[in-house]
Amino acid sequence: MNLKELVTGKKGDKQFLLGNEAAVRGVIEAGLSVAATYPGTPSSEIGNILSFLAKDANIYFEFSTNEKVAMEVAATAAASGLRSFTFMKHVGMNVASDSFMTTAYTGVRGGMVILIADDPSIFSSQNEQDSRHYGHLANLPVLEPSSCQEIKDMVKYGFELSEKVQLPVIVRTTTRVSHMRGIVEFGDVEDNSSNGETHWKKGTFKKNPAQFVPVPAFAQQMHIDLLEKMDEVKSISNKSDLNKQTNDAGSKIGAIASSSAFNYVHDVVNVNNLDIDVFKVGLSNPTPDKKLVEFLKDLDEVFVVEEVDPILEKEVLIVIAQNNLNVKVHGKLDGTFPMYHEFNPNIVKDGFNKYLHFYEKEEPKLTDSLKKLISEIPNRAPVLCSGCPHRAMYYGINKAAEELGIPSEDMVFASDIGCYTLGINPPYNAADYLLSMGSSVGDGCGFSVATDQHVVSFIGDSTFFHSGVSPLINAVHNKQNFVLTVLDNRITAMTGGQPNPGIPVDGMGDEAPEISIRKLANAAGVKFVRVVNPLNLEQVIKTYKEALEFDGVAVIIAKSPCTLIKGFPKRPTVQFDERKCNQCKKCSHELACPAISFKDNKIVLDGAMCNGCNICVQVCKYGALSAGR
Ligand code: SF4
Ligand code: SF4
Ligand code: SF4
Repeated sequence: MNLKELVTGKKGDKQFLLGNEAAVRGVIEAGLSVAATYPGTPSSEIGNILSFLAKDANIYFEFSTNEKVAMEVAATAAASGLRSFTFMKHVGMNVASDSFMTTAYTGVRGGMVILIADDPSIFSSQNEQDSRHYGHLANLPVLEPSSCQEIKDMVKYGFELSEKVQLPVIVRTTTRVSHMRGIVEFGDVEDNSSNGETHWKKGTFKKNPAQFVPVPAFAQQMHIDLLEKMDEVKSISNKSDLNKQTNDAGSKIGAIASSSAFNYVHDVVNVNNLDIDVFKVGLSNPTPDKKLVEFLKDLDEVFVVEEVDPILEKEVLIVIAQNNLNVKVHGKLDGTFPMYHEFNPNIVKDGFNKYLHFYEKEEPKLTDSLKKLISEIPNRAPVLCSGCPHRAMYYGINKAAEELGIPSEDMVFASDIGCYTLGINPPYNAADYLLSMGSSVGDGCGFSVATDQHVVSFIGDSTFFHSGVSPLINAVHNKQNFVLTVLDNRITAMTGGQPNPGIPVDGMGDEAPEISIRKLANAAGVKFVRVVNPLNLEQVIKTYKEALEFDGVAVIIAKSPCTLIKGFPKRPTVQFDERKCNQCKKCSHELACPAISFKDNKIVLDGAMCNGCNICVQVCKYGALSAGR
């Protein structure tokens, strides 16, 4: 599909969309004016598509420096009467949460939707927290789509609900929902034409400190107002078609499910012809208690099927207790379903089977030859791409420490979120501690206070702008002592190559001021700031040696583009002369470039994979590797 059809598509058109594409169509149908995000999988595609379509769709779009800023951009746009949208991955919501919590108090004038994409099973994150808690924590409505059509429809409905009750609305997806594909029927598109010189519509902020300035005197009333608004949402939830019985078997056994877990329940019940009534929860906070009572009152047992935390299950238990129902609940709390990781039809089927005994569970039978084959499949750890500039920095710091005679146990590497987390792998072994976006700098502060070891932090350019600046200021002010490496690969690489404030292009592809990391470090008072070319190993090692001997905060900015940047020029492949190679294996064991491997225990170079960074040429002392032409 041509992505522009997300803008031009008419009511009744049907398209086979990715969940994240359906979310974009949802905001376009809703007449969105302002969108902001910090990229994070599994929500990244939404930003990439909005970046491409923003002008056609009359939307202002930005990749903000972090999720908290994105939340603030969206909240103020909604306070100015515009429809606004912010979206992020689950851990991004932790960053946004400070402003998010108070947005619930101030409320909105234009509709505001916050899409949070959870990552059950931790495919590309540092934890698998359940973002539905944020709905309960802040007292905000939560919508949980389970199909592409529902994503589109619920995002659109989220704006209507938001405007009706004057509260931001959360749409919670999971990896499986964000990345599934399905047919989506388009609806009408609301007019959001520009009313001025910008390509997006401008709103007006009407002052009302009692609504928008939560000083204690106002905030106390705001909390009461919020609870009243949520009472209204509760009655909406109890009438909404988003919460409904989807299978009526007239059974004494039921299942209640939401999000992708609902899909597995639906399939398992239908494929196995199970005598189970099914209730689907789409608007899950506030809980549709009256509807649940109607569903539960004739049941003896109910399964509650949801991914990650037993949030719905606890709500069901409250409903049962408050209404004196006699229904046994099977869910995560009694061990019917696991407390962790994403579900699949087999997990749901096995959970049902613990009580219904509708099939004999057979252990998979593997032939001896299949078992042998499985045992021989090599594990392939994720690696830095061939030609990645980060590789040289890891090589360089290890060499510098070695040349200064610093034992590896005296080196502490604080890592961060990005491709450079891969520095954990051998031969680099350059990630000892990691908490969150930007934490490498704060961790550097902590380790430098707590130990006398040599501390080296690694952070990317985008992550530095996200949340590395404040801890750097902290480090200088508190006279701490560590080396911060900013791996400036000119892009936000891990999430697919989005721009950041360090490059002269904004989220809509327009020219934009480039923010200098070097000047920021200087302005923070860092006395040792060096910009190096990571592909020049001699310079890297020399600079690291100086930095390790410097007393104070030393910042090294390693500036070289990620090889995956669109349009990255193909550099000539290095030449390998087998006759000069003495098989010392230094190039392979110390660099671990995927283009260099062994065949019959001898070094081979895969020319198709080589990105011509020439780092291996500098490592080979025998001239067996030479720069290509
Ligand atoms: S995507 Fe870019 S930055 Fe990330 S490992 Fe590959 S080359 Fe390095
Ligand atoms: S570093 Fe040079 S000599 Fe040693 S194995 Fe590699 S190519 Fe051969
Ligand atoms: S083979 Fe050498 S030049 Fe080619 S990408 Fe790997 S390290 Fe760089």
